[in-house]
Amino acid sequence: MSMDVGVYSRAELRKRGLDGWILRKELAGGSLFSVRNGWYAVPSADTVVVEAVRLGGALSCVSALRKHGLWVPSGYSGVHVRASRHGKQQLARSCQGPGRPVPVSTALDPIPIALGCAFRCMSDEDWIAGCDSVLNTLRLSVPALQAEMGRIPQKMYDLMSKCDPNSQSGTESLARVRLRAAGFSVHVQPDIAGVGRVDLRIGRLLIECDSVTHHTSLENYRNDRRRDRTALVNKWMTMRLTYDDVLYGWDEVMADIRAITDSDRHRIRSA
Ligand SMILES: [Zn+2]
Repeated sequence: MSMDVGVYSRAELRKRGLDGWILRKELAGGSLFSVRNGWYAVPSADTVVVEAVRLGGALSCVSALRKHGLWVPSGYSGVHVRASRHGKQQLARSCQGPGRPVPVSTALDPIPIALGCAFRCMSDEDWIAGCDSVLNTLRLSVPALQAEMGRIPQKMYDLMSKCDPNSQSGTESLARVRLRAAGFSVHVQPDIAGVGRVDLRIGRLLIECDSVTHHTSLENYRNDRRRDRTALVNKWMTMRLTYDDVLYGWDEVMADIRAITDSDRHRIRSA
């Protein structure tokens, strides 16, 4: 199912019975307006999607992933457009996925196509985190998502082998990917007795990666403190990372994690 963003191709309108004189009547009455040749929008249409269609394609890539409610770090700006066959000449830069170009049939690209485009626009680790977000949100396995994406290049397979559908946030995904790349043995979403699920674990070190929205509720606030207390009693060490820690202060985070692991304080010893 696709999200209704209020921008439609002529074919989509035809399916809804809006064609010929009925379409002309809607346009004359102002309940629809023409965005570009063959594309129409309602007055309440999503303005970013309207812009993408006006530019000569569909909203795609990181912009489409964001529109679908998926995790994209704040550093990616601009309107990412995938040109339609006729929109190529007018568009300075078109995002493209791997393999043969897929025709543009909706104003907002479906998630698998947008993810394919984002492969070229995002850094490898950001793309893995975005992919995690797709897997987690759509409750898909990696092979199931790959099947929806069609033919994908080897490098995409390699990155997807580092994905984890259990990841609960983009910051958690980034932290996991970077810690594993640094050689740490990282457990994802382990269930700790008395504490519950935590984001990541390295030995006795529990790492909680807070998403931007996490601290909006008093319940979360209380629950986090109760969990920290229980963890401490059971000799776990808890490290809480913010979005800014992961996105902009990772070197310091890594230095702190190394300070703990180098001194072997995180090792699990049997008493
Ligand atoms: Zn792009």
